[in-house]
Amino acid sequence: HLNERVPPNEIPEVDQLATSFNRMAASLADVERRRRELVGDMTHELRTPLTILKGYLEGLADETIEPSTDIYLRLSNEVSRMQRLVNDLQELSKMEAGYLPIDARSFDLYPLLTGIIQKFSDQLVAESSPQMLLDYPLDTPPVLADPERVEQILVNLIGNALRYTPAGSITIRVRSEGNKLWVAVIDTGQGIAREDLPHVFERFWRADRSRNRNSGGTGIGLAICRRLVELQGGTIEVDSELGVGSIFRFSLPIAQRG
Ligand code: ADP
Repeated sequence: HLNERVPPNEIPEVDQLATSFNRMAASLADVERRRRELVGDMTHELRTPLTILKGYLEGLADETIEPSTDIYLRLSNEVSRMQRLVNDLQELSKMEAGYLPIDARSFDLYPLLTGIIQKFSDQLVAESSPQMLLDYPLDTPPVLADPERVEQILVNLIGNALRYTPAGSITIRVRSEGNKLWVAVIDTGQGIAREDLPHVFERFWRADRSRNRNSGGTGIGLAICRRLVELQGGTIEVDSELGVGSIFRFSLPIAQRG
């Protein structure tokens, strides 16, 4: 029968409840901290293009800036930047909330890769634009992944490669290794300093912010890529050398045959 004199903290159930309550509180505090950080980062990132827009618009209004095609293009660039930021943030917040459906199935990467390369090549009109190459062995097995998410990763990585490679080449190399398929995006661009490499997948991280502002990036793309790769059971890595180029590679599980 019940011994009513046992103090509550010596009853094992109460102990267990207290432990699981503490754990829940800690994980809620963690979610709350991440949410606060995200809002803080977002505010910071949106403030810069807004300040620039406001500066131009005020200058145009009080006629200290003369209207020109160039000015309108600059305004439009800042608006595009904010659009990208808002789109990226939407993806990011879905991921933070744990809501990003992955619809994995078995498929061949080849048509996906050629389709993406075609889309990018259509935009590369300048003569000095980097060349896009595909290295895809004939016997490459199909992957088990979500084609839409894989496309999203590749568009991000190739977009970056193009952005940071004024001329030269961008190669997409596919290799199988055990039960994984590795997809590498190799560029001959500006590269990333060794000490910066551990940070590139962090949200909002950008090498030398002032230098890269003009490149139109948001610093979210690679954080999204990493999450998307991990959600599909893969890993993502980077290797780079300043002035030589970068290799971003990620793995995907190979689909079991039969
Ligand atoms: P962004 O939108 O700024 O490109 P990312 O998260 O995609 O954001 O990349 C973060 C930063 O990593 C970039 O701002 C850039 O400094 C660096 N980076 C990414 N890809 C490359 C690349 N292929 N070559 C050189 N630097 C790169």
